[in-house]
Amino acid sequence: TARSLADAGALLQRRDQSFARVQEHYYQAPPQIERGWQHHLIDTHGQAYVDMVNNVTTVGHGHPRIAEAARSQWSLLNTNSRFHYEELVRFTERLAALAPDPLDTVFLVNSGTEAVDLALRLALSYTGQDTVLAVREAYHGWSLAADAVSSSVADNPRALDTRPDWVHLVEAPNAVRGKYQGMQSAPQYLDDLDGDLRDLADAGRTVAAFIAEPVFGNAGGVLLPDGYLAGVYERMRARGALCIADEVQVSYARLGKHFWGTEQQGVVPDIITIAKAMGNGHPLGAVITRRDIAERFSEEGPFFSSAGGSPLSCRIGLTVLDIMRDEGLQQNAEVVGRHLKQGLERLGERFDLIGAVYGMGLYLGVELVSDRAAFTPATGAAARLCDELLLRGCIVQPTGDFKNVLKIKPPLCLSIASADHFLDALADALGAIAPRAAQSPTLSAASSR
Ligand code: PMP
Repeated sequence: TARSLADAGALLQRRDQSFARVQEHYYQAPPQIERGWQHHLIDTHGQAYVDMVNNVTTVGHGHPRIAEAARSQWSLLNTNSRFHYEELVRFTERLAALAPDPLDTVFLVNSGTEAVDLALRLALSYTGQDTVLAVREAYHGWSLAADAVSSSVADNPRALDTRPDWVHLVEAPNAVRGKYQGMQSAPQYLDDLDGDLRDLADAGRTVAAFIAEPVFGNAGGVLLPDGYLAGVYERMRARGALCIADEVQVSYARLGKHFWGTEQQGVVPDIITIAKAMGNGHPLGAVITRRDIAERFSEEGPFFSSAGGSPLSCRIGLTVLDIMRDEGLQQNAEVVGRHLKQGLERLGERFDLIGAVYGMGLYLGVELVSDRAAFTPATGAAARLCDELLLRGCIVQPTGDFKNVLKIKPPLCLSIASADHFLDALADALGAIAPRAAQSPTLSAASSR
């Protein structure tokens, strides 16, 4: 592994000359990846890694059914969505059937950013109101509008001071690290929200929408406090505002027990945004909403995305859903995810560095802390741990405002054997960087979920 990492450096230098350097890559010295198979990545020296970070490649790398669907659709037809063809109808019917009632209308785009941008436009046009509420510490994309509602300081250190006037940030409902802690803290967050809403009303502002992930993905998969979204959505609806669930990361069966993240909170949004998983790496995104919301938007003129909803994209999207059904991947996410989470919690009993284990299904987070009582983020240790794991054949990366939460989101085909391989590698890597056994007995309370 050490030799393959050294060799990848030459290509990295060339990359830095032609590709915008602002775009990050995993690791200071990343391996040069040549091929993928299921939940494995293989570098140019034939070294295989378990891919624990890839929440885009849901059904796994190199899936022959996707390759065949792409090949045959390209040979048959690929064009823009102003033409009339069957794949678009079949795919939008399928997505509408998966969405909770009364969401029955689909827009097809090419990424999560585009989906979020469009969702915001739908809400502003439907309500005619002026302000969008977004939670702190979130990421929703890079376009002007999607970036405006993104306030993660890990991505932009000046984020909190540079939001445009139409965005109002509310407290991050982070049940572990947030202002109020514990799964029963929703009433306190909602009290704060009531204060925000009063202030906005006093300033003559009206609320068009609330946007949030239904599971706090950017913080590493922290579940929202019980009843939080129900309370927020009730307040939004009382004001004629729309509720946008950004399901780009956490939905599409990743949570195992739930297809949609909002199911975990027991709510139905007005607008859902999806991307990543639905194309398994092919650029695909969608907005799913109610017919009346879509119709109001159409009064502003037609909507059109050249490649969004192309025959190729729809065919790939349909094939991903077929594979997920035929291979039982939602159930696999539930079973393997539970096994993995239990293993991570057991490691938490052995290593003080682990402060909490979050999430469900194959969307898990391991928060690393240098002091359990003070919950001090162990940012440097997280980076070192990822390097050690790479040497042991596992790819994983840190997330969150302090970059101290290992974000575990592998392809949904992850096997029990590979989950165990990762747990063994993690135990070994933890032993290498933090040999101290756990002194304080418990992980953070939120990890019991
Ligand atoms: N929303 C969320 C919650 C995301 O995690 C991301 C991507 N990390 C996006 C939106 C943007 O998606 P994309 O990168 O496909 O534009």
